[in-house]
Amino acid sequence: MIKVAQCWDDGVLNDIKLTDLCRKYNAKATFNLNPALHSAKNRRTTGWTYRDSGYCPGKLAWNEIKDVYAGFDVASHTMCHCNAGDVDDKVFLAEAADAKKILEDMFQKECPGFAWPCGKYTRETADMLQEAGFAYGRTVENTDRVSGFTHPMILHSSCHFQDENFWQAFERAKQTDGLFYFWGHSYEMMDDRKLWDDFEDKLRRLSADPEVQWIPTTDLVK
Ligand SMILES: [Zn+2]
Repeated sequence: MIKVAQCWDDGVLNDIKLTDLCRKYNAKATFNLNPALHSAKNRRTTGWTYRDSGYCPGKLAWNEIKDVYAGFDVASHTMCHCNAGDVDDKVFLAEAADAKKILEDMFQKECPGFAWPCGKYTRETADMLQEAGFAYGRTVENTDRVSGFTHPMILHSSCHFQDENFWQAFERAKQTDGLFYFWGHSYEMMDDRKLWDDFEDKLRRLSADPEVQWIPTTDLVK
């Protein structure tokens, strides 16, 4: 048996396609959102340009969030995507906690997950967030043993979803603690058919594996 969890950041339009795929393969997932960046209530907005591709990942309108993520978990990624250590710790804590509260009110359930914007964390902010009721904080670092964290707010994943060693990491996770955890941004697949097909293959293969049990990200730290 291997327990598998995934999470995705930033609440972009490509999540519509991604959530449809996850539903198709009965895959659980957590989506890490920045409530303040969905500035238009009824309107999708265009964001930044992804690398040099010229691809511009649009943001979901705020009033479609609840439907797009229905049946999945959502979690705080701070209000404005601010980085730990770059702003005052108290400001960072408020950014993280306010997003959690807004999502909990919207989805009417506990949302104790967290993903560090740009993967930046500090020991001080990790302690503060834990104290504020967060269950875990995902970094962008990789580990062979997801359960080996020393601080739940500094939780490393097995790999990024486009890691060229994705399946090796999966096999390694089977040998160690039986936890496989990957993450990404759906905009990294842009509108590129091949990249989406590659990811759909991963979902298909994971869900077809009788050894695989999809778990919510909060179970990673239980
Ligand atoms: Zn992000």
